[in-house]
This record gives sequence, structure tokens and C-alpha cells, in this order.
Amino acid sequence: MSELAEAPPPKLRLSKPVQQFIAKKRQILIDGKWSDAASGKTFEVYDPSSGEVIAHCARGGKEDIDRAVKAARKAFESGPWSKMSPSQRGRIVAKIGDLILEHLEEFAELEALDNGKPISVARVADVPLAADLFHYMAGWATKLEGDTLNLSVPSTLAPNTAFHAYTRREPIGVVGQIIPWNFPLLMAAWKLGPVLATGCTVVLKPAEETPLSALRLGELMHEAGVPPGVVNIVTGFGEEAGAPLAAHPDVDKIAFTGSTEVGKLIVQAAAGNLKKVTLELGGKSPNLILDDADLDVAIPGAAMAIFFNHGQCCCAGSRLFVHEKVYDQVVAGVAEQARKIKLGPGLDPSTEMGPLVSTTQLERVTGFLESGRRQGAKPIVGGKRHGDKGYFVEPTVLVDVKTEMKVYQEEIFGPVVAAVPFKQLDERLLTQANDTIYGLAAGVWTRDVNKAHAIAAKLRAGTVWINCYNVFDASMPFGGYKQSGWGREMGHQVLNNYLETKAVCLAYPDQF
Ligand code: NAP
Ligand code: MG
Repeated sequence: MSELAEAPPPKLRLSKPVQQFIAKKRQILIDGKWSDAASGKTFEVYDPSSGEVIAHCARGGKEDIDRAVKAARKAFESGPWSKMSPSQRGRIVAKIGDLILEHLEEFAELEALDNGKPISVARVADVPLAADLFHYMAGWATKLEGDTLNLSVPSTLAPNTAFHAYTRREPIGVVGQIIPWNFPLLMAAWKLGPVLATGCTVVLKPAEETPLSALRLGELMHEAGVPPGVVNIVTGFGEEAGAPLAAHPDVDKIAFTGSTEVGKLIVQAAAGNLKKVTLELGGKSPNLILDDADLDVAIPGAAMAIFFNHGQCCCAGSRLFVHEKVYDQVVAGVAEQARKIKLGPGLDPSTEMGPLVSTTQLERVTGFLESGRRQGAKPIVGGKRHGDKGYFVEPTVLVDVKTEMKVYQEEIFGPVVAAVPFKQLDERLLTQANDTIYGLAAGVWTRDVNKAHAIAAKLRAGTVWINCYNVFDASMPFGGYKQSGWGREMGHQVLNNYLETKAVCLAYPDQF
């Protein structure tokens, strides 16, 4: 079974800047200034590999949200930001990307410590992808164009009159953003990049479990030249800081990433002033391995699809459908991959899978494992908590899974895959793959490019990966069908989340 590496306490491995950063009580950022919460309260931040307290953060509440929204409103309407040229704005956004890369190691350490993910992964995925998002969005600042329109107003209605009509793309205003803990820095980047490119201002609420990298990013944003009040960051709990942000009457738009359950609360809270809403929610994504797939690629691919980030991905390939001809081989292969994964603290450079993020998630995932066992699913590898320190769960492959089981139907958000054999590629299989309340992502593994595209067209999912999985790029839109969300992150599509379209129509005498 996977070994839990005996590592020295994480503090010993931290660089000076990170040690200093976490040693200081972390405050909230409003109008360019760092301050305590109005209540004076703080909360503890834990190292999920040990359960030890590593930092203290200000516990923001309604009063802080009110102050942050006021600052964002002022910056939107009258500050230097509102007068800045698109090119100046783009340069600032690009500079944020540069600064993230300059501080790559520091961010990788913060993510490994706070979230528990392997530092080796944070270095090559989370941090460079976050930088790339800002670099990509920087280019859009100067390319937010409207159209000129040819109207067909009949001359009987408007005799001797011509029209000059065009559209303008304008920033939506003050934005509230609430993000989860699974990719703390990257989710902050996905959210803040387009806000800045479009000229909006924002109040960001990071997840209580993982607030550290967003706060460090807040410092660097000011170094990059983001004026005070444009980005405000209020740490705290969902009910105390997130809910008043979602309900705030002076917030024009709310963007949320997290559970489908809380997503529904956000929609209700937003109804008060009918603020615009976009949501990036959960998934139970199907991953299909056909009998003609290159199994040398598909097996490690299917393992990575579920075990990457310890299964704490909204797009995790958690329902693995395998053609019966290759089922035994694939299931044994994925189990073998699971067995080889080295569990350990995120800060250990040799760690391949870290702990889950919190005791809550540990209980949730082990609860699912227990329910699977009770309902008759069989773990051929893993199936339980790993060790008794930290929040580790063994990478798990479940077989004998029935469609009515909770482990098949619900999002587990842990390293647990349900494998299901199928007899042939037909309508029934595709119906089964689509038969969930979610529609975030899907995978297909085959050597037949015709089949691959035919299947991709039939899957009701926002992303379909063919012979790959978990490929993300700033240029590729990401988001969900059905209860997986509203709207898209990344790509030029995300800009629509933060722009209003204004139609301007001028009448003039038709003299010629
Ligand atoms: P969550 O509660 O939906 O948290 C996401 C964010 O929403 C956090 O910043 C959270 O704050 C905040 N929040 C919670 N309740 C709120 C409310 N009433 N109003 C406004 N904001 C609120 O997710 P979770 O509890 O951390 O995880 C639970 C499950 O959600 C997971 O097991 C997984 O299934 C799913 N999830 C999905 C994603 C995704 O990327 N789609 C990410 C994370 C989790 P606090 O955490 O600070 O309280
Ligand atoms: Mg939570």
C-alpha cells in the first residue's frame, strides 16, 4: 500500500518569505489597505497533512463586506482605474502574471502548505497556469470591441432619416467573487484576470480553508500597479462573509465556484437586486474507454483523471465506463497506478498525492466509502483513510458498482473512482454517461477519430477530452451544462461574464 512519508515538520521546509508571511496575522484588503476584521475576530488556518495550525486570518463579516463594496464602487466610478486606458490596464494585468512567475516557488510552497497538494504539482500546474491566465487576459483589455449595425427602420416610420447605430462593451461594475479551496491561487486567477481585463472592480472572498495564496496575490497586485479599491479581499466564512456579498444590493454581479448546493443559495441571495450570476459547480464526469483505445495511454490517463489533486476537482473523471473486452485489464491497471502513488505532506518534494483539504472533506469522503461498502461496491484498491495523522485517504477503485448507489450518483470530491463495464458503444451507453444532474466534463479514449467526435457531440458536458484529461488552458472555455453551472470561465467567453452590451443609436437627416 502507499507509504505515508515520515517528513520533518513543514515549518522546517519553508523558505524565509513564506515563514514570514504566515507568521504575521493576515488581514483583509480594502481600498488598498490591510486591516483587521471590524469584529476583531480571526480564524485558524490548518496544515491538512498534520492538522496543525499554521496561520491566523481576519474573520470578515457583513460590515467588512459593506466597506469593501463601497471601496470597489468608488474605484469603479471615480478612481484612476475608471480613467485608465485599456492598454495601461492590460500592462498591469500582464505585470501580475510576471510577478506570479517571479514568486513561483513562494506560491508553490503556500499552496502545498495550505491546501496539501504536492509542491511538485503546484510548481508546474497551479502557479504557472495562474500566471498564464493573467498573461492571456492582459491581451484582451485592448480588444473589447463592439459592432456597427445596419438598421432596417422603414422610411414610412422615419422619413428622411438615417441611423448610425453601434454597440459598446462596458464593464459590468462592482463584482463579488467567491472561490473554493481546491485550486486556491488558480481559482483566484481565473476570477480576477477577466475582472481586471474588462475594467471592473471586485470583492473577492477566498475559501476559509485556503486563504493564504490569494492574500499574497493581493500584495503583488498592488506592486503591479492595481489602484486601491479595485481588488478587495475579505477572508472569512461562507455564511458570514460570502452570504452578505452574494446578497449585497450594490454588487452588480456575483461569480461563484463551489458546490451545487451553495450555488443554489447564491442564486437566491442574488435575487434581491437581480445581480448577474455565473456559477461553476460540481460534476460527476463520465470517462469512457472504448475497446480500441491505446491502453498504455488510457490507463494512466484514467488514473490521473480521478487522482489528480486527490480527486478534489469539479471535473474529476469519477465514473469510469470501460468496454467489457478490456475492463479487467483497465481496472487492474488503474488499481496498479493507485497502489504506486506516494502519499505524503504537500511540502515533501517526493509526494505524489497529499491529504484532503480538511477534516470535513475527510469525513465526507470516508462517509462515501462506507456507504459504497454498505451498498455492495467493492474497493479493489484503497477504500479507507490512510494513517491517523492528517486528512489522507487512499486512492480507491470501486467495482461492482450499481447505478442506484450514492458512490455512482453523487460527487465524492475525493480520490475514488467507480468503474462500470459496458457491452457496446451505443445510444444506451451515451444515455447512461449523460444520466446525472451534472454536465461539467467527460473523457473518451479511442483510436477511432470518427467515433471520438461522434461521442463528443453526444455528451452533455462543457468540456470533452479525447485521449487526454484535465487539460486546461487560458484560451479554452470551461464550465457546465445542467446543474454544473451557468456561464464559462476562461477563453474569450469569460469576458461576457463581466461586460454589458450597450446599443447606441443616432438619428441624422438623410440628406443625400
Ligand atoms: P462550498 O461550501 O460550496 O464553498 C465554496 C465557497 O463558497 C467557499 O468560499 C465558501 O466559504 C463559500 N460559501 C459557503 N457557503 C456560502 C454561502 N451560504 N453563501 C456564500 N458563500 C458561501 O464548498 P465546500 O463546503 O468547501 O465543499 C463542499 C463540496 O463542494 C465538495 O465536497 C465538493 O463536492 C464541492 N466543491 C466543488 C468545487 C468546484 O470546483 N466545483 C470546489 C470545492 C468544492 P467557506 O469555505 O469559507 O465557508
Ligand atoms: Mg466550505
